[in-house]
Amino acid sequence: MTDALVVSDLTKTYPSTRRGTPVAAAKGISFSLPKGGSMGLVGESGSGKTTVSRMIVGLSRPDAGTVTIDGRDRDRQWTARGKKARLARAREAQMVFQDPYGSLDRRLTVEGTLRDVLRRHRPHVSREEAEARIATLLDRVGLDATLRLSRPHQLSGGQRQRVAIAKALAVDPAVLVLDEAVSALDVSVQAQILVLLNEIRQDSGVSLVFVSHDLAVVAEVTDQILVMYQGEAVEQGSTDDVLQRPTHPYTEMLLSSAPGPDWQPERVAELRAAFARTH
Ligand code: ADP
Ligand code: MG
Repeated sequence: MTDALVVSDLTKTYPSTRRGTPVAAAKGISFSLPKGGSMGLVGESGSGKTTVSRMIVGLSRPDAGTVTIDGRDRDRQWTARGKKARLARAREAQMVFQDPYGSLDRRLTVEGTLRDVLRRHRPHVSREEAEARIATLLDRVGLDATLRLSRPHQLSGGQRQRVAIAKALAVDPAVLVLDEAVSALDVSVQAQILVLLNEIRQDSGVSLVFVSHDLAVVAEVTDQILVMYQGEAVEQGSTDDVLQRPTHPYTEMLLSSAPGPDWQPERVAELRAAFARTH
């Protein structure tokens, strides 16, 4: 079976700003993901995770490399325009951001947000079918039906993020990219959403690219991990291998910077210094 997502040699350099040199934000990033699989992109702030995410969903054009979803090259989007092509691309990949205000219309209620997406993507379904679909989506993200008429500012951060996830799932995408989507939430709310994401990928077969600076969070929802440092993949493999047998000092550093039972701040500083010397 073809992989749902194949990322091959993705490369992006931002042109120099007024004061600096060009930034190589992604250097030859490659990985593939089966249907229903889940890949974690981890690394510190500035390592290039968002750059890669944006190229996967087509918000930014790679300098080199390709993104293939269900066997189709995403690069065609930069040449084939038009509404039909745009809707088809949206069904390939959807993104959920850290700040749901970025993707939610403040004026729309929860059900209005979902109805709007369904109307654009499935203009031919009946009103009853659309209503049933909205109910299913709300259920899938664990949102109570009593919140249907709420607007974003009336919801908690966790509820808003559930709406953003429901909105992304409404088009039934092959790939869902979540860029620091739980990072701003309380730990207990984070945990609920991670459980939900695992259920969603099992039930719907959507493939996840889960982006976070926090390895502990990534480990909860992924079966593979790719560790980025300054635009490069310094380590990648199964989640278990990367967590239990990190081969790169940077991964070790990320592991020890996750506050856990054996968190040692001194060790982090030591590893960070060692890593800066070797890289
Ligand atoms: P992350 O998501 O891991 O924090 P980013 O992909 O946002 O990393 O950024 C990677 C690098 O690219 C950083 O050095 C950042 O400053 C730079 N960068 C990101 N976006 C732009 C842009 N639009 N223009 C110039 N530089 C950028
Ligand atoms: Mg980012």
